[in-house]
Amino acid sequence: MRQDIINQVHVEMGHQGTYKVIKYVRDRFFWKGLTKDIKNQLRACHLCQLSKKSNITYVGPCKSIITENIGDIVMADLYGPLVSGTFGYTFIFVIQDSFSKFIKLYPLKQSTAKSVVTKVKHFVEIIKPKAIMTDNGKQFVSNHWKQSMSELNIKPIYTTVRNPRPNTTERVNKELSRLFRTLCHTNHKDWALILPKLEELYNNSYHNSTGFTPCEILYGESNEMSFDKVISKSKDKHNVEQIRQQVRKNLKEASRIRNTKFDKRNRLIKYNIGDLVKISRSNRSDADNKVMSKFNLAYEGPYVIAAVPFDNVYTLTNPETNEIRGIFNAIHLLKYFK
Ligand SMILES: [Zn+2]
Repeated sequence: MRQDIINQVHVEMGHQGTYKVIKYVRDRFFWKGLTKDIKNQLRACHLCQLSKKSNITYVGPCKSIITENIGDIVMADLYGPLVSGTFGYTFIFVIQDSFSKFIKLYPLKQSTAKSVVTKVKHFVEIIKPKAIMTDNGKQFVSNHWKQSMSELNIKPIYTTVRNPRPNTTERVNKELSRLFRTLCHTNHKDWALILPKLEELYNNSYHNSTGFTPCEILYGESNEMSFDKVISKSKDKHNVEQIRQQVRKNLKEASRIRNTKFDKRNRLIKYNIGDLVKISRSNRSDADNKVMSKFNLAYEGPYVIAAVPFDNVYTLTNPETNEIRGIFNAIHLLKYFK
């Protein structure tokens, strides 16, 4: 009867925690291992596991992508929709080389697979990528995209569901927003006109993690600014190979610092195939349906770890139907107890 007693008390108490249940049961019943039984049984309560929020984030080790050469990986992302500007452009297709941080900004009228592929074909003339990383946007999961990339001999790779962090174009997007605010705040519709200027500014500015400007890494030198016409740089000129050698070191160091910071804030976890997990639900408020996100269950599940395609990345399936739920980063998962 032990399980029934614990369950009855726990449910009648409105799914309260172990402390209160133990107190109540201990005053009325006795068996050996009572405390342990209650702890184990409540830990596995389905409703509690989906509704009680954890205050620790369990994550896998932060794997940053460190590239060794120009074109190893390029990141691509769409910025927009923006106010329809000059010539009717509404999107910016951002492509960035991970090693040099060199960017190209392509204004687009439509965000279709066809239009982004055309721009990649243009980018290939400057830098020939081995792989291209995007989110799971409909353009990038389309057959047209996959087929075109295969024809260009570029491997398409994807960031995981709801974890766009590895894609550094998100950081570029932030910088773009800043530049637009600075340069376009008086006339929003002018953005397409200043795009070439933005691109040039970015590619000739020192980048934090490389210590050089993208143009220096790509071509060995940057555009001159007005001072350069009258004052020559004190440092000796490096050749491109020396610059790239230094960039390799700088990128590793920048990544090491990022990882240390990240690991301090988070608890490490690794799941194995067959483990049960729950998925934390994004807290979207659904005002139209008058649903308060605070009242929704905090997690959904349980799901089974069916595959581990990369470190930190898990393919989840429904244990009852075997249907695939999706691919998730460890950051959105928590262990589910049976
Ligand atoms: Zn419960």
